[in-house]
Amino acid sequence: MAALDRSFFEALDQADPLSSFRARFDLPGDRVFLNGNSLGAPPKSTWNRLARLVGQDWRDDMNSGWWKHGWLDLPRTVGDRIGRLVGAGPGQVVVGESTSVNLFKLLCGALRSSTRRTVLTDSGNFPSDLYIADGIAAHVHPDARVRRVPAPDLLDALDDDVAVVMLSHADYRTAEILPMKEINERAHAAGALVLWDLSHSAGVLPLALDADGADLAVGCGYKYLNGGPGAPGYMYVASRLLPGFEQPITGWLGHADPFAFEAEYRPDPGVGRLTTGCPPLLSLVALDEGVALAGEADPGMVRAKSTALTGWLIELTTGRLGPLSVEVPTPADPARRGGHVALRHPAAERLARGLAAHGIAVEFRSPELLRLAPSPLFNRYVDVWDAVAVLERLLTSEHRSLTYGVAGG
Ligand SMILES: *Cc1c(COP(=O)(O)O)cnc(C)c1O
Repeated sequence: MAALDRSFFEALDQADPLSSFRARFDLPGDRVFLNGNSLGAPPKSTWNRLARLVGQDWRDDMNSGWWKHGWLDLPRTVGDRIGRLVGAGPGQVVVGESTSVNLFKLLCGALRSSTRRTVLTDSGNFPSDLYIADGIAAHVHPDARVRRVPAPDLLDALDDDVAVVMLSHADYRTAEILPMKEINERAHAAGALVLWDLSHSAGVLPLALDADGADLAVGCGYKYLNGGPGAPGYMYVASRLLPGFEQPITGWLGHADPFAFEAEYRPDPGVGRLTTGCPPLLSLVALDEGVALAGEADPGMVRAKSTALTGWLIELTTGRLGPLSVEVPTPADPARRGGHVALRHPAAERLARGLAAHGIAVEFRSPELLRLAPSPLFNRYVDVWDAVAVLERLLTSEHRSLTYGVAGG
């Protein structure tokens, strides 16, 4: 086997069938971003699209742009594009507000459609998702009950009061993936719906919402979809559930005929009923560019590169950093592992700052986790090598300071 050195990883980059995607992003040459799962990178085409929207379509056409340039349809057209990435047929995905607000809408809708009152969720779910569920129980459905149980106990906790199971498909800390199809089937057998949060999955993992029997899903636009800071998120409601599905923020653009200005609300027959008011056009066109770019890549190749990158991260980390007290809570089994790798170390926060000082951006998650997320469309294999090399230097001095009381770097 070839020696594991930087040139080995350069050779992997040369053989990478997705390598040409990197040039489609506007990246500063002197830094490595391993945090595209928190905020993705700007596609170069986003600039042109924003310039055209502001300097041409908006300027020249003002209000008629809503019709002339399809602005009003964009939440649905971008939604269908996202649908192709997540295995959803047309007419089931729409772009809305932030993921948190979208989750609010779909969770209320799920409770509305059932006489059962329990929301069952993973106690380790993303905090915003837990807050939203608790907020609904406090303010909207005072008879609802949010039950948090650890992920491994979820299926055993299904009982005849569970209206909806609310889960993140890939864990935001460890990247562990939950078995979507199996959970959907078990929940359905128990008479419950499942609401998935795809924020750490879409764009990096192959998803098959329709084929896996999904009911409801939300996801984030600014992570692996590279939609830009504050890009809106999206909602999925399976077409079999859409006709009776009601969400509580019933604004005019969710109406069947907004421009009839009727006095009473009548929901759009399709996925439009999930929307509320004017879409955030500037963010939405940026999201469209990110999603379109992601849609050009073969999902199998994206997944293969992602598991290779995270696999190398784990292998280099356990091989070289293991003796320096770094633990890897991310599953070693690629089938159970999402797009990032978490490392646990008591000095995680200091290490994240040290990496940043060397031009390597990772995320720190309190108290002891570092998240390293290689984005298959713009990261390289050498990025993984370089990050681990810097981490090894930092850890060696941390280790020395912990062991001998010498001030560490
Ligand atoms: C990033 C993320 C969100 C983002 O929520 P916003 O309301 O769009 O800021 C929601 N849920 C999960 C699981 C996330 O990872």
